[in-house]
Amino acid sequence: MKMLNVSQRRHHANEKSADGNHVVFSQVEKSYDGATHVVKSLSLAVRRGEFLTLLGPSGSGKTTTLMMLAGFEAPTAGTISIDGVNLTTTPPHKRGIGMVFQNYALFPHMSIADNVAFPLAARKTPRNEIGRRVSQALEMVKMRNFASRRPAQLSGGQQQRIALARALVFEPALVLMDEPLGALDKQLREHMQTEIRHLHKMLGVTVVYVTHDQDEALAMSDRVAIFNNGMIEQIGEPAEIYESPNTEFVSRFVGDNNLLDGVVDECYASSSGDYRAKVTHGGCQFEALTAKPLVSGTRVSVVLRPERVSIAAHDTDFENRVNSEIIESTYFGDHVRLTCRIPSGNDIAVKVANTSGLGSLRSGQTLPIGWRSVDSRALLAAGGQG
Ligand code: ADP
Ligand code: MG
Repeated sequence: MKMLNVSQRRHHANEKSADGNHVVFSQVEKSYDGATHVVKSLSLAVRRGEFLTLLGPSGSGKTTTLMMLAGFEAPTAGTISIDGVNLTTTPPHKRGIGMVFQNYALFPHMSIADNVAFPLAARKTPRNEIGRRVSQALEMVKMRNFASRRPAQLSGGQQQRIALARALVFEPALVLMDEPLGALDKQLREHMQTEIRHLHKMLGVTVVYVTHDQDEALAMSDRVAIFNNGMIEQIGEPAEIYESPNTEFVSRFVGDNNLLDGVVDECYASSSGDYRAKVTHGGCQFEALTAKPLVSGTRVSVVLRPERVSIAAHDTDFENRVNSEIIESTYFGDHVRLTCRIPSGNDIAVKVANTSGLGSLRSGQTLPIGWRSVDSRALLAAGGQG
């Protein structure tokens, strides 16, 4: 397989579109029944060479979005362009896109080699060229010794590698993957995540990847688009999505979060250039970051990651401190997870790294906990202003 290195790809990229965008969705809508929209006014630019993941709950419109990009579904409104060309009505086989799905979809009656050769044969590639490219693609996924077997003689993970080889063998610049690892067990899934990432780096292709697994999305992607109910709630780099969720939905969907509902007392601009809100929650006052100034009386949810809550509450760094009672303590080996009840009656999940000298943490015990304002965020409550 002729493998362009990343800088060569980038060079091609610049020739193709000056803005660096590979795929552009512009106000795309989709309705299957003419009444409900499962994709609503979607505008999204996929950068060339990036690994973009569409992450969201089941039914949020991820597969529909991918099917429209692949050409298997037509948008009800809006346009999709690839390399600056409007392809909204171009059939799938003329889009030059590689695809991998959850159920492998290998042809059961064909050998592994013939499966991988299929896209090349369909493109009328010369015979000797096919042989060479198939072995290279099999080599790439470390499956060269399996060329003459049938799909049924391979494990799930091996079949998925073949599906990858088949998607990449004709050197597409764009590869779509819809929950490709969904059928694999945890260990194999994590292994394949690493392999797919390495392939992406090595080939410099643009990948649009769909998953409902937040860990997978964070681990694999350059950027993640959070889908909710046919719309993108937030798009950004994994750390940005995790550290700075813009909405309650994103904060709940990505990672573990504590949510404390409250009312803004006051809001001020801090010396570090961000905004802080003082929020009353069940008789306690907590301070949290906020993206923009909030007027007093605004109903908010204060979100706080379990790993940002500390049991070293005497530490002077913590603007927020509260007494709690340990309701439950669960040992996970590398960490201990506590459920701590604060005076408002709410429970806060706390993740404590299992460092030496941790000591005992038993339910019933009183435990002061604390956290920094910058480690919590006040987001508009789902119900809005109140
Ligand atoms: P996701 O991949 O995020 O789970 P989908 O794009 O598959 O979401 O589905 C979004 C919505 O569209 C769901 O309500 C689903 O039932 C509906 N849907 C998906 N495909 C079809 C179809 N071919 N015909 C009718 N409704 C569909
Ligand atoms: Mg789906």
